[in-house]
Amino acid sequence: MTYETHNPYDAVIIGGGACGLMCAVQAGIRGKRTLVLERNDRPGAKILISGGGRCNYTNLHTTIENFVAAEPAFAHSAFSRWTVDDTIRFFEQHGIVGQEKTLGQLFPVSNSAKDIVQVFVTLMKRYGQELKVNSQALSVDRLTAGRFEVSYETKGVTHRVTTNALVMASGGLPVEKLGASDFALRVARQFGLSVEPTAPALVPLTITGKDADWFAALSGNSVLCRVSNERASFEENILFTHWGLSGPAILQISSYWRPGELIVLDLLPNHSIEQLINTERRAGGKRLVGQLLGDFYSRRLVESMRKFLPIDTKIASLSKADAKRITAVIHQFAVKPAGDKGYDKAEVMRGGVATHHLLPQTLAARDVPGLYFGGECVDMTGWLGGYNFQWAWASGYVIAQAV
Ligand SMILES: Cc1cc2nc3c(=O)[nH]c(=O)nc-3n(C[C@H](O)[C@H](O)[C@H](O)COP(=O)(O)OP(=O)(O)OC[C@H]3O[C@@H](n4cnc5c(N)ncnc54)[C@H](O)[C@@H]3O)c2cc1C
Repeated sequence: MTYETHNPYDAVIIGGGACGLMCAVQAGIRGKRTLVLERNDRPGAKILISGGGRCNYTNLHTTIENFVAAEPAFAHSAFSRWTVDDTIRFFEQHGIVGQEKTLGQLFPVSNSAKDIVQVFVTLMKRYGQELKVNSQALSVDRLTAGRFEVSYETKGVTHRVTTNALVMASGGLPVEKLGASDFALRVARQFGLSVEPTAPALVPLTITGKDADWFAALSGNSVLCRVSNERASFEENILFTHWGLSGPAILQISSYWRPGELIVLDLLPNHSIEQLINTERRAGGKRLVGQLLGDFYSRRLVESMRKFLPIDTKIASLSKADAKRITAVIHQFAVKPAGDKGYDKAEVMRGGVATHHLLPQTLAARDVPGLYFGGECVDMTGWLGGYNFQWAWASGYVIAQAV
């Protein structure tokens, strides 16, 4: 075991991901010296694979409405001090020009998440911040009020470092192979902070039982849909898969879904099937129901509707009850997912360190001076679309102003 007697660091940051890297760089800009401990062999593992390797690094329309949390308004302070414009300017200053793909989602024009990580690697060096990779934080002890000792292991050797500012930026539970751990949640509980119940979020949903084969047969089909439950509603594509449902609208609603609940799919969100049927009727109603549906869906999806709808019936021959049934199936297709694909396939974690224990201006624990929590370990879960990185950058920045 080695012990660092002379500690030159103003802060020790656990986790070299989005929040930890931003925190170290911003502290460096203020002339502070930090040590970042990262258990992986390189920093920013999640940044590298984010957005399909292209990194959707912010969203132009970020507001607290785009977050699932016990207290979304907690993020107001951080988002007003580090805005979306600040994110855009920060990356532009370091050579990354953003381009909006869809719904405000900003990606580097280079389409390369590596460029984002490289910005941090360069700035960490420029501002003399130390990054220790292959270094897993094992435990934290409070020596005196406001002073902590962190034990960490690097290549089989245990070290200790003391600090007056300990930043927990070790992320959430999704994707263990990318370094995810419950370390921040454990440290929070150790110091008496409660944790809002955690669950996979932005995650595909599974279908089992009697309906499983119907969904599996449609695997690969993608449909624009409005997916709703009593808490939220999203209009984007859904994707049928061998095991259930995925695609952006499903990932979004998954953050609001609880096991045992239904979700409702409007398979034709920008039209009224009733009106379309009436228009066809006025034109003679010679087309078949399946032909009308074929204006909007793949042949495979229309064929699969045979299970629920009279697709071979002429529209002129539809009874009132038929028309009602078609409306219900197309606009209110109820699905009861069996579960979700779990933390390995989730983009984020719902829940986390309860924000009422933290000061919104600094993200310091109210009752534990010197202990900070930022990024995904905090109960602040963004929608799909760059919101989670905006929270990680903003919380990292805010903490850096306080350490
Ligand atoms: C597949 C995928 C795609 C995504 N795409 C996007 C996207 O395009 N846009 C978006 O906004 N969000 C995206 N996200 C979410 C985003 O990556 C996270 O919200 C964000 O990285 C959280 O930042 P963080 O710094 O809190 O945690 P992380 O970036 O996860 O960093 C935490 C770091 O801490 C390290 N660590 C954990 N425990 C320890 C320990 N005990 N000791 C030392 N180190 C430790 C981990 O190895 C990790 O590197 C995606 C997530 C996934 C899984």
